[in-house]
Amino acid sequence: MITQTRKDQGLNPDRDLITVTNPITGATVGQIDIMTADEVRTAVGRARYAQKLWAARTFDNRLQILRRFQHLLLQNQQQIIRIVREETGKAASEGFAEVIDLDLLISWLAGYARGVLSRKRRKALFPLIQSAHVYYKPRGVVGIISPWNYPLALPFMDAIPALLAGNAVVLKPSEMTPFTSLYCADLLHQAGVPQEIMQVVTGDGSTGAALIDYVDYIGFTGSTATGRKVAMKAAERLIPCTLELGGKDAMIVLRDADIELAASGVVAGAMQNTGQMCVSIERVYVEAPLYEKFVERVVYYVSQLKIGSEDHKEIYIGSMTNERELLRVEAHIRDAVERGARLMWGGSRRPDLGPLFIEPAVLADVTPEMLVMQEETFGPLIPIMKVESADEAVRLTNESEYGLSSSVFTRDLKKGVHVGLQLNTGDVSVNRTSAVVIASQSLPWGGQKNSGIGRRNGPEGLLRFVTTQSILVDRRLDNMPSFMITDTLTLSAIEVIRRIRRVFPYF
Ligand code: NDP
Repeated sequence: MITQTRKDQGLNPDRDLITVTNPITGATVGQIDIMTADEVRTAVGRARYAQKLWAARTFDNRLQILRRFQHLLLQNQQQIIRIVREETGKAASEGFAEVIDLDLLISWLAGYARGVLSRKRRKALFPLIQSAHVYYKPRGVVGIISPWNYPLALPFMDAIPALLAGNAVVLKPSEMTPFTSLYCADLLHQAGVPQEIMQVVTGDGSTGAALIDYVDYIGFTGSTATGRKVAMKAAERLIPCTLELGGKDAMIVLRDADIELAASGVVAGAMQNTGQMCVSIERVYVEAPLYEKFVERVVYYVSQLKIGSEDHKEIYIGSMTNERELLRVEAHIRDAVERGARLMWGGSRRPDLGPLFIEPAVLADVTPEMLVMQEETFGPLIPIMKVESADEAVRLTNESEYGLSSSVFTRDLKKGVHVGLQLNTGDVSVNRTSAVVIASQSLPWGGQKNSGIGRRNGPEGLLRFVTTQSILVDRRLDNMPSFMITDTLTLSAIEVIRRIRRVFPYF
């Protein structure tokens, strides 16, 4: 059991606490404080004060510290996976995947971040006598609000680039999974990040809401409903934010697809993390000639998945983390079957393994109006629908209110890209699913429509943690006073430049 109580911190013990429980055993993992708005304000104040010194350090110094953290992460990976599993009930392989994501991220940053964040030369109005550069400066204190489904990867995929760019970070993890964040923040401190520069504020939604009142930027990951509230609060303060929200990712299987690749691909894409993944495949559209065979092969692959609570790598399906999501999976199956879908596999609870285990399920003959094709499911469920053409699949994919990711399976790679370009989603994978985009690190990743605003990963994901400052230096040393842009000499020079640039735009 891990505890981080107010008493441990020398604070008033007579305060509200949240008890975190292990979803498999029901045992108490530990207790955390619900930190008040005042405490959040104090934490942000400390961060703001210390951030200036952190930003004044060299890029190399900050990178070196994060490299040390990378080393500590790998050294302590078993302990991290244990904490992640205690809080979420997920399979050990999924905990391991979270460590890999951070490891890959830090390696990518080590190779590319300097280039992304270094000043860039730009062209000034009068190139011969003026020089111009864009500088990238940290935003100040970055607030991160994160969900429970990837308690290691999601908060720290934001925190690490924010720190490297010279910001302080105040993180509010989900009340269901705070201990992974507390442990990982401690590793960052051991690596050399000052305490004030990486802080975790624990609590519930009220603590998250308070954070938005004080920080300079918000990186939010969570549901679309909460994301809207976060955006409205950020708008009141005119602070920038990124919102990584829910999804209803579609997979399109064209008639020329490799059926084994597609059927095993959907299982990997839909069942990862027991389906509790924003980029989970939640709708499958299959062209008619392949439909029956495809359904049969998906059922075969799903039937091979090992489900359990033990700590070994072969287990793919772990416990669900909270009952709300389990009830939603059951409601979606019930609704679909009542409206004529066929339940081909799974869908029953497994109380012998733990209170929140459910057999991964496959539904065939679903139709667009069923809840399972409309709402986010967030559980181990694959609904499959027959379509007559690629165009129909594209239309149905784009009808969703969500637009996170999607995938297309076909042997014709050009056609895959062509279909992908018609989909209104933040990324598209051809013959793979989105987890590979996320692990690619150099690719920006994030949603369109109700799936969010902004991007994580790649140069775009790093640049959101900085603001630009353009600096123009005029080398005119002839002491000629220039009160306004419209003096006759300037006007004549602009006229010459205009004419030249009409013919040579790069001049
Ligand atoms: P929630 O929106 O319920 O919570 C997310 C975070 O916001 C939690 O830390 C929560 O605290 C906090 N919070 C709750 N209310 C407020 C508020 N009013 N102001 C500020 N913060 C608040 O999402 P879930 O935790 O249930 O996560 C699941 C959702 O996250 C799914 O929809 C999933 O698709 C999405 N998600 C999106 C990802 C992406 O990158 N696009 C990645 C992973 C998940 P507390 O938990 O203490 O209530």
